[in-house]
Amino acid sequence: MQYFIDVILPIPIQKTFTYTVTEDEAKFLQKGMRVAVSFGKTKMYTGLVFNIHQTAPTLYEAKDIYQILDEEPLVNERQLQHWQWISSYYMCSIGDVYRASLPSAFLLESETIIIKNDKDIDESDLLDDEFLIYEALQHQSQLTIHQVSDILGKKKVMPIVNSLINKSVIIVQEEIYEQYKPKLVRYVRLHQNYTNNDSLEDLLSELSRAKKQRTAVLSFFQLLAAKKPIKAKDLEEKAQVSSSILKSLVEKNIFEFYHIKIDRISFKGEVNDLKKLNNFQEIALKEIKESFKNKDVTLLHGITSSGKTEVYTKLIQEVLDQGKQVLFLLPEIALTTQIITRLQIYFGNKISVFHSKYSINERVEVWRNVLENKSKAQIILGARSSVFLPFSNLGLIIVDEEHETSYKQFEPSPRYNARDAAIVLAKIHKAKILLGSATPSLESYFNAKQNKYGLVELNRRHGNVLLPKIELIDVKEKYRIKEMNGHFSNRMLKLIQEALDNKEQVILFQNRRGYSPVVECKTCGVSPECPNCDVTLTYHKFKHELRCHYCNYLRSMPNSCGACGSNTLDTKGFGTEQIELELKKLFPNFKIGRMDLDTTRGKHGYQRIIGAFESKEIDVLVGTQMLSKGLDFDNVSLVGVLNADTMLNFPDFRAHERAYQMMVQVSGRAGRSRKQGNVAIQTYNPLHQILQQVSTTNYVNMYDEQLQERWQYNYPPYYRLMKITLKHRDYNKVDSGINWLFKALQQSFGDYVLGPSAPAVSRIRNQYIKNLIIKIPPKQSLAETKKHITKIRNTFEAVKDFRPIRFITDVDAY
Ligand code: ADP
Ligand code: ZN
Ligand code: ZN
Repeated sequence: MQYFIDVILPIPIQKTFTYTVTEDEAKFLQKGMRVAVSFGKTKMYTGLVFNIHQTAPTLYEAKDIYQILDEEPLVNERQLQHWQWISSYYMCSIGDVYRASLPSAFLLESETIIIKNDKDIDESDLLDDEFLIYEALQHQSQLTIHQVSDILGKKKVMPIVNSLINKSVIIVQEEIYEQYKPKLVRYVRLHQNYTNNDSLEDLLSELSRAKKQRTAVLSFFQLLAAKKPIKAKDLEEKAQVSSSILKSLVEKNIFEFYHIKIDRISFKGEVNDLKKLNNFQEIALKEIKESFKNKDVTLLHGITSSGKTEVYTKLIQEVLDQGKQVLFLLPEIALTTQIITRLQIYFGNKISVFHSKYSINERVEVWRNVLENKSKAQIILGARSSVFLPFSNLGLIIVDEEHETSYKQFEPSPRYNARDAAIVLAKIHKAKILLGSATPSLESYFNAKQNKYGLVELNRRHGNVLLPKIELIDVKEKYRIKEMNGHFSNRMLKLIQEALDNKEQVILFQNRRGYSPVVECKTCGVSPECPNCDVTLTYHKFKHELRCHYCNYLRSMPNSCGACGSNTLDTKGFGTEQIELELKKLFPNFKIGRMDLDTTRGKHGYQRIIGAFESKEIDVLVGTQMLSKGLDFDNVSLVGVLNADTMLNFPDFRAHERAYQMMVQVSGRAGRSRKQGNVAIQTYNPLHQILQQVSTTNYVNMYDEQLQERWQYNYPPYYRLMKITLKHRDYNKVDSGINWLFKALQQSFGDYVLGPSAPAVSRIRNQYIKNLIIKIPPKQSLAETKKHITKIRNTFEAVKDFRPIRFITDVDAY
C-alpha cells in the first residue's frame, strides 16, 4: 500500500501538490500539520497537509517529503474551510491565503533569509548543528535556508532553524519590525542593609553632616507612606535635590535603583466593572440581542460618541461567560491604542492584540494561544489579518468602523475585504457578527434595509451632548472680500482663537501630507516628476526635499527648473506641513502638532502623538484622515476641515460616500464629553449636496441620494465590480495585452466590460498599469462569471508574449 498527502504550498498556483509518505507517517499526519518538502529542482518549502489518501497522482511522480514539522495541527479544519472560500471568492490560490495567514516564522523556505539576533545567548544551550549555524553567522551577516542545508550537509534543517528562532539566536530577515522597547522608569528603594530600624537610626546620624543626602532620605520615608513604588524623579522633586545626590546615596549602598518593566502583553492594572449603560444604549443592546435571534449579521448604526464601544463590551462579556472566543476587528491597529486600553480596563489579561507589524515572537505567541484556546486569547483585537487566526470556538465578531477602506487588502493577493471575510468566518463558527459605524458603508446599510442584516440605531450621544454645530465657510467669497490669511479664513481663525482662549483643543483636517503637492515652474509650466512613476513630486519643506508618495523616491529640492533652467520654481496647493507652519506663525504661544504618515512612522509613532494630545501637551493637532478613525478626546471643542473640495472631486464612484464618511467622522471628534462642539468646513462649493448632508449629519438623505446614483449607473450594491489589472515595464506589452483581453471579455460580457483605461497614476515603480472593469449584473451568476474569466486568463497566459505580464484580478475592487 502506498500513502500520499496533498500539500498546500505558499505559492500562487491554484493546485495542491501530492507527495508520498510512509504508512507510519500517514498514520501520524493530520490535516493542518506542516511538512518540509522540495519543489522544482532546488526549492524547499513549508507545506501544509490538506489531504491524506492512497491515490497516486497521474501526471507526475510524487516525491517524498523531507520532514514532518508539527506534532499537532497548526491550522484547523474551520480555517481550511475559510481559506477555500477566500480563494474561490477572491480568485486567488489557496497558497496565497496560506502565506497571508501564517506568521512568516511558520513558513520557512529555501529562500528565507536568516540573520543573527542582537542578543546575548548562552552557547552551551545550543546543540551541535545549531552551534554550527550560530558560528557561521558570526562570519556571514546572513544565510538562506538553502545555505544552512549546505553547511550542515543535510536536507532536513527546518526543525534546526525553528529551534534557533525559538532560542532567539536568529530572526527571519523579512521581519523588519520595531522591537518593542518597554518604557524603563527608574525607581528607588532602600538597600537591604537598612531594612531594620536600628540601622536606620545609625544611617540618619551618619548623614548628619551631608545635609542634602539626609533630606533625600527623609523625603524618601515621607513618600514611602503612600505604599507605592517611588520614582527617582519624584524623590528628586520632593527633596529638591539633583540626581547626583541620589547617585551618591546609591554608591554608599544606602539606596538602590531598580526598574519596573511594563510588559507588552500582560496587563497589570486593575480590572474595572463594565460601565452602566444609559437608557438608549440599553435599548440598543436589547435590540441587538433580539436581532441575533434570527439574523447572524447585525448592523449597529450609532452616531459618533453614542457609546458603541460600551455596548460592545456587554456583548463581549456575555460571550466570554459562555466560554467562547471573541474577535474584535479594528481598521488600523496603530490608531486604536485607545480602544485597546479601554477594553483592557474591563477584560485585562483576556485580551491579545494581533497585527502584522508585531514582531515574529508576538505573532507566533498569539497564534499558539488562540490555537490552544488559552484564557489570555479569549478576546482578539486585531486588524484585518486577524481573521486568519486559528479560532476553534468563536462566539462573536465585532467589526468596528465597518465602513473603513483599510479593511480591504489591495496588495498583495489575497485581495480580500476583512469585513466580508469575517461574515463568512462567523457563519463557519455559527457565531454572531456585529458591524458598527456612525457612517455605515452603503453596501451594509443596503443589506440591512433589504432585511439581509439586522439593523439597530443609536441616535443619542452619551450624556445627551448634542452633535457638533457644523458651519460651511465659502472660501471663494472670503477671498473676494479679502478675509483670508494664508489658507485660513478669518472666521476659522476666530473659532480657533476662541477654543484656545477657553483652554480647549482643536483638530484641523487636511487630507494631504507634505508641504505642497505640486511644484511648478512659473516660466515654462513644467513640474518635477518622479523618475519611476507617472506622478509629480510632493514638496516637503522641513527637509527641503521632493518626495514621491507612491514609491518613496526622494531628491533635494532643486534651485532651478530642470526643463528651462530659470529659478522660478513655485509651489501650488497645500498639505499638512504647510498648515502646521502657518499655524505656528499665527499662534506662536500655542503648541501645534502634526499627525500624518510622515510623523507617525514606526510601531509606536501614533501612540506618541495621540498620547501628547491626550495629555494636552499639544493644543492644535493638524492631520490627515488618520484623525477620523475612532479617536476619543474629551477636550476638543473645534474641528476644522481646511479644504473639503479635494475629497469631493476625487474620480471614484464612492468619492461622495467617502467624503461624507470622512467629514462626519472627523467632525465626531468635537465636543464628545461636556458641551456641544463646533465644526467649520472651508470649501469653494458650499451648496454641494454632500456638504449640505454633512452639515446636517443626514446619513439617510446621503444614502438615498447615493443609492439612486448607484442604481442609475449600475454600481454596487446593485452590480458587482471586478477589476483586472495588467502590469509590466514595457508599455507596448501592457497595451497589446489589455486590448487582447478587452476583446476576449467583450465577446462574453458585452457592454459590461469597461476600459481599457490607465489609472490616474499610470506608471508606478517603472511598471505601466492598465485596467479593465467588469460589471456583473444582479442576475448573472458570480460563480459562472469567475469560471469564464479564469478560462480567458488561462488562454491569455498561454500566449508567449503575454506570459511575463502581471495579471491581477480584484473582486469587489473598492
Ligand atoms: P462611539 O464609539 O460610539 O463613538 P464611545 O464608545 O467612544 O462612542 O463613547 C464616547 C465617550 O462616552 C467615551 O469616552 C465613553 O467612555 C463615554 N461613555 C459612553 N457610554 C457611557 C456610559 N454608559 N457610561 C459612562 N461613559 C460612557
Ligand atoms: Zn521652467
Ligand atoms: Zn515614484
